[in-house]
Amino acid sequence: MSYQHQFIDNSPCDLLPGKVVCVGLNYAAHVTEMNSKNIGEPLLFIKPATALTPIEEAIRIPEGRGACHFESEMALLIGQPLKRCREEDVLEAIAGVGIALDLTLRDLQKQLKEAGQPWEKAKGWDGACPISPFIKTEEVADLQNLDIKLWQNDVLKQDGNTGQMLTQVLPLITYISQFFTLQPGDVVLTGTPEGVGPLQKEDTLKLQLGRLLEIETRRVEA
Ligand code: ZN
Repeated sequence: MSYQHQFIDNSPCDLLPGKVVCVGLNYAAHVTEMNSKNIGEPLLFIKPATALTPIEEAIRIPEGRGACHFESEMALLIGQPLKRCREEDVLEAIAGVGIALDLTLRDLQKQLKEAGQPWEKAKGWDGACPISPFIKTEEVADLQNLDIKLWQNDVLKQDGNTGQMLTQVLPLITYISQFFTLQPGDVVLTGTPEGVGPLQKEDTLKLQLGRLLEIETRRVEA
């Protein structure tokens, strides 16, 4: 089944899946756990639309490519074009809020980083962005005060809050739009809190975004 964006209330969604613009190292504690440095401005990368997959479907770890890490992230569905926008234009262009996994082949990413190469093979493969249905933005009181939690086999591994983002949603999307036009149907991933780790075959994950969304995945397949 090919991926289509969905709203959690099952209201129609005619936004066609587009690119996924992601920000790395957007939570200080995750910067520390990665032994990275805060570079003072958002670190952007893109996953292609073919990375999107419904989070309710089985997650598959690519074979023979080393560790595949989960990173739980607040996802924003873009509903209107944004090109070199101002912060005050951003909120009304966000059609929905969801939760996604920025799946990362960590060993491959490390090799690519060390070789000075881009990360796409580690982060942009088919299925590298499992994503939930979206809550309509108007139902979210405050985008910057949502707990974001991930349990791996009932063990709480990630426990952050979107208020901890180093670059918050409005400046982040404004910054992105200086480089890449955001089109209706594109998705922005806002970075992961600390606690990332490797997926194992047979794992089940539970993800929560505030009190708005709770998702349980099927068993991970290798
Ligand atoms: Zn990430």
